[in-house]
Amino acid sequence: MTEKSYIDNFEANYPEILENIKKSAEASGRRAEDITLLAATKTVPVEAINYAIGRGITHIGENRVQEFLSKEADLSPNVHRHFIGHLQSNKAKDIVGRVEMIESVHSIKLASLIGGLSVQRGITTDILLEVNIGREENKSGFLKEELDEAIARISEIEGIRLKGLMAIPPVCGTKQEIIPYFEEMYKLFIDNRAKKIDNVNMECLSMGMSSDYAEAIMYGSNIVRIGTSLFGKRNYNI
Ligand SMILES: *Cc1c(COP(=O)(O)O)cnc(C)c1O
Repeated sequence: MTEKSYIDNFEANYPEILENIKKSAEASGRRAEDITLLAATKTVPVEAINYAIGRGITHIGENRVQEFLSKEADLSPNVHRHFIGHLQSNKAKDIVGRVEMIESVHSIKLASLIGGLSVQRGITTDILLEVNIGREENKSGFLKEELDEAIARISEIEGIRLKGLMAIPPVCGTKQEIIPYFEEMYKLFIDNRAKKIDNVNMECLSMGMSSDYAEAIMYGSNIVRIGTSLFGKRNYNI
């Protein structure tokens, strides 16, 4: 796809997505401003990303360290940058300090690595813990029964600030099938928020993508990560 069509797609899709977010937010007793729309920008050229930022996108998420670094220099400074992809330990050094939040922390080992690098660099990195809510073999993330211990241990690591949870539920045939995963995530989120653990601020629940963001918001999400519905279908999958 050319840059033009990413931009055309964005123009065509953005108003409707904002409207849907507002509707779901209000239907769940919140306001549109309580929900962060994060544009998932893998494969999207930086010119189209900057165009979207000019139109109001405040948060972007990238999946691959190399791809992010290749866009970084040209990226508009006025945007919150999140890393949302699988982060390998050996790549952590390339991303710490360059994004505001790493949403996809899938192990205590990775959290300590990010913490150590952050301390060395004199910064604090916000993180979310990825939960493998569908217990899928091919996905990373904590199983729900591992979460308590992980949160307790991660809360003691210097250099990071734990701000919530993130999930990518299994691909489901119908929207109805995905709802129990969202409900389960919301329960984990509020249970852990109620514990008021030192150094943990459970503020963010990142769930919902192109096909299910309206439902995710209905069930308590406050960050939705949207790619295809904003920019059009990707030529390849990451
Ligand atoms: C690509 C991606 C998204 C967005 O997916 P779409 O279905 O294109 O909206 C959200 N979260 C993560 C982690 C992704 O990799």
